[in-house]
Amino acid sequence: MTTVDDPKPSVLLAVFAHPDDEEFGTAGALLRCAERGVTVHVLCATRGDAGQIADPTLATLETLAAVREEELREACRLLGFAEPTLLDYGDGRLAAANQDELAGRVAAAIRSLRPRVVVTFDANGGYGHADHIAIHRATLAAVAAAAEAGPREDGATAAGHRPDKLYATGYPRSAMARMNADLVRHGFPALDFGDVQGIAAAEMGTPDERITTAVPVDDLWPRRWAALRAHQTQYGPGNPFVELPETVVRNWMAVDFFVRLDPPPTPGTALPDEADLWAGLSLST
Ligand SMILES: [Zn+2]
Repeated sequence: MTTVDDPKPSVLLAVFAHPDDEEFGTAGALLRCAERGVTVHVLCATRGDAGQIADPTLATLETLAAVREEELREACRLLGFAEPTLLDYGDGRLAAANQDELAGRVAAAIRSLRPRVVVTFDANGGYGHADHIAIHRATLAAVAAAAEAGPREDGATAAGHRPDKLYATGYPRSAMARMNADLVRHGFPALDFGDVQGIAAAEMGTPDERITTAVPVDDLWPRRWAALRAHQTQYGPGNPFVELPETVVRNWMAVDFFVRLDPPPTPGTALPDEADLWAGLSLST
């Protein structure tokens, strides 16, 4: 029988669509948890096979999925996370996949890993990327399904599991406006995600008043910067993350923001109401 003196294992599961999704607005807060002894798992629905190839010596169209999988594995090693899980859905085709199967695979991971905290994209996927929206929906469906007994990742039947907290990533619109001002000042266009941007520029990001959780992470910069740059195929010449002065990029990533979906904030509470994804949870020894 579980008692308050027998804390549950300290496990966090972050569920994303593409290798490198974990780096933006999330990796610092996850690293903060990892440094305190939380086991951090990243589950990535695709291997990023439709991504860029910044340098043709790094990958070909045929090898890109394998190269990006290894980039994610290296990023997780640099951050002290557990080995990531990659589901190998097609990059750019997640919304067209069988959504029940996708949610079932995420639910199986939840029953296997038994995370106390789950993190995924917000409902608009940040900038309306159809893959991000699909993994958001699948993760919410999976959290609900995993409360009941069902299959684990190895196919065996496991008891249900209910995470203590569920978070969506938050990209405050005020922070995006500052980022755009920096980009324009340095001669880059404002944020534009091309044909994968599924919503208008004004709808991108998160209304500031929804942010429940602001995690200061500037002190973790060297490790998260190294992890971001481990995704070498995505960050080549011309990319603002490579071209801009490091201090500018560091400033963008000084605080990681989230929207706590469950439990939701108490009405009337001033937000943000916490500064850590693990706030209020015990650490297992
Ligand atoms: Zn992505």
